[in-house]
Amino acid sequence: MRPSWDEYFLKLAMIASERSTCPRMHCGCVLVKDKYVLSTGYNGSLPGLEHCEDAGCLIVDNHCVRTNHAEMNAIAQAARHGISIDGATAYVTNMPCTTCAKALLAAGIKRIVIFSDYRGSLAEKFLKESGVPLDRLPMPSREIIYDLDIYPSAKKFKGPDFTCDT
Ligand SMILES: [Zn+2]
Ligand SMILES: [Zn+2]
Repeated sequence: MRPSWDEYFLKLAMIASERSTCPRMHCGCVLVKDKYVLSTGYNGSLPGLEHCEDAGCLIVDNHCVRTNHAEMNAIAQAARHGISIDGATAYVTNMPCTTCAKALLAAGIKRIVIFSDYRGSLAEKFLKESGVPLDRLPMPSREIIYDLDIYPSAKKFKGPDFTCDT
């Protein structure tokens, strides 16, 4: 089944989360406007610094603070490249934490789409007060439907001796 736009972007957020480096939580975020991906992020350490996987988590008040959250990294990536995210939709694997929700709102995000919750977040309160909708959708399929065998015009790479025979 061909995925809807919402499913497609949530799935991209899931794929971004595969790059996460904190074993306590893997999150991904994709910022989208007019069906274009503006920026992506996952929760990971600051550029050049050690990852939780190597250095262990840095726990403060029962939260790991070594990583920047996915939403923050998506906002930071847009900032580095001079891309306005005003009016964009944020597709996030999880309910944003309070701090990330506030940062998304301050950056002009106009809709947030998630499929999983996060304990203790005040995101819903701030979103509601700001008039920004939060859509909880079912988790997209974890399957990637791409099989070279079923596409007749695709050829698998079979190594250095491979030649195209069509
Ligand atoms: Zn960690
Ligand atoms: Zn956060």
